[in-house]
Amino acid sequence: MDLSTYIRDIPNFPKSGVVFKDITPLLKDPKALTLATESLLDFITDAKVDKVVGVDSRGFIFAPLLAQKIGAGFVPVRKSGKLPFDTLSESYDLEYGAETLHIHSDAIEKGDKVLVHDDVLATGGTAKAVCQLVERLGGEVVQCNFLIQLTFLNGADKLKGYPIRSLLQY
Ligand code: IMP
Repeated sequence: MDLSTYIRDIPNFPKSGVVFKDITPLLKDPKALTLATESLLDFITDAKVDKVVGVDSRGFIFAPLLAQKIGAGFVPVRKSGKLPFDTLSESYDLEYGAETLHIHSDAIEKGDKVLVHDDVLATGGTAKAVCQLVERLGGEVVQCNFLIQLTFLNGADKLKGYPIRSLLQY
């Protein structure tokens, strides 16, 4: 089964000049959803992962599935104004615009081994900000994994030092 056939290109979304990778065809197909989840699980080689951090909002789809399978907790990183408790924040530039991400100040314990997951790695700004939030709380990022890596945007360069894995590369 070729998972790339379940990814749909949407030209000029969310703004002119951007070709958006839409993962909803993959999500709605039971076999593709299972294969994608199992393939992301195969990436996880660390014996112990304490927390899987998912990024607002499409990172919330697979991150809890992975966490539940490996016996880890799930931690959401969210955009401004969404998390109700004390937060730490990081601001950064992304492919289209600028963004600030937040994490609850009690989400990660010192020494926690953390897997960071998002649907797409583009310029890497988002994932880098998430790694910084995890580290500010004393966590150790053991892997960043993604469904899709837009290699032409060189996100891996921003994530030097972090093991990264992706299911599909463009
Ligand atoms: P980056 O910070 O430039 O790496 O952008 C990654 C973030 O933008 C992720 O949270 C993605 O969900 C989102 N993103 C960027 N490009 C796409 C795309 O083509 N499809 C879906 N999400 C995207």
